[in-house]
Amino acid sequence: MTTEVKTTTTHSTVQFAYLISHISTSLINATPTESAKHIEHALAALGSNDRKDRCYVFLFSDDYQEMSNTHEWVNQGITAHKQDLQQVPADAMPWFFQEMKAEGLILVNDTAQLPDKAGGFKTELLRENIQSMMAVGMYLEGRLIGFVGCDLVHRSCEWGDEDVRQMRLVADMITNTVARHRTEARLQQMEAELRAANARLAQLAHEDGLTELKNRRGLDAALSSEISRLQRKQQELTIMMIDIDHFKQLNDQHGHVVGDAALRCVAQELKHTLQRSGETIGRFGGDEFLAICPLLTTEEAQQRAASLLEGISTCEGAAQLTVSIGLYTFIPSSATTSDEVLRKVDNAVYRAKHKGRNRFEIAS
Ligand code: GH3
Ligand code: MG
Repeated sequence: MTTEVKTTTTHSTVQFAYLISHISTSLINATPTESAKHIEHALAALGSNDRKDRCYVFLFSDDYQEMSNTHEWVNQGITAHKQDLQQVPADAMPWFFQEMKAEGLILVNDTAQLPDKAGGFKTELLRENIQSMMAVGMYLEGRLIGFVGCDLVHRSCEWGDEDVRQMRLVADMITNTVARHRTEARLQQMEAELRAANARLAQLAHEDGLTELKNRRGLDAALSSEISRLQRKQQELTIMMIDIDHFKQLNDQHGHVVGDAALRCVAQELKHTLQRSGETIGRFGGDEFLAICPLLTTEEAQQRAASLLEGISTCEGAAQLTVSIGLYTFIPSSATTSDEVLRKVDNAVYRAKHKGRNRFEIAS
């Protein structure tokens, strides 16, 4: 075994200054995806200075219960250990964890001389044939997040102040890179969450909570867009207004929970009968629903209305459920407005009610 007592010459200090400037430029320019590669280059540069055998970064878990070897560089002929040093528990080497937390620095000139209390840590160094090692803490906003270290396998050495200073510089640079990329990753995650929340909000703004159909706002948007689209194409559009018969009475006699179940049943039947691709259904408000169905002939539209009446009659509940429907099939003109169409189907519903309910009436 050879032991070196280090004497730092001006020459090696200058060489290290070059090295540091090279490492810092490379780390500053690293994008998040390249960060691992650049940190490993920095470790390689640190290792080649003074012929170290292994240089590495470990990061602690937030609760300091474990640490993992995240980056490693090894000299030729030296065994890599990154794979078997993942999620190393604090209880496996309590002395190391305590010293690192208290001092932010571990200097081992000779593994054999480590005190007995270094227990698990000493065993690990012996397992890896390490004669000397040094590790300095990485601090982010005053908090210890990990450490940068290096090992000597073929020889041992007496570490000096200059070695610690150099290692601290490299540790600071790697910490800044890790911090920058963590912030970027957090930002990206926040952006993704925000986008998802916005999409959900936009959806909720157009959705009725009870039936999960479109709400009035969603229907208004769909109606005006379909009127414009079919006006351009000069094709037929069918609008149906569906209103539950004597719904107030159902609520009064059986309560709102039964009323809500009836609303959901009507919604189900609407979905079942009227949601071909391109068709839109929604809850217009209270006990009124609206269906927007492009490209149906007048006969087809009437068949749909009849099927709907039949479907709703199968809704099981406290009382027989029926609806009245106003139906309007037309080719929109440039003068057609949503208000006008809604007025027409509403009038048709009124007529259906007047004629005895549980039927559809056609607007013209
Ligand atoms: P008609 O046959 O003429 O349509 O009579 P109706 O009783 O259905 O008409 P009206 O418009 O007077 O009653 C609608 C009722 O719908 C009144 C209101 O209490 C009830 N309603 C509105 N929204 C809800 C809801 O979300 N849940 C329940 N259970 N009832 C609701
Ligand atoms: Mg009603």
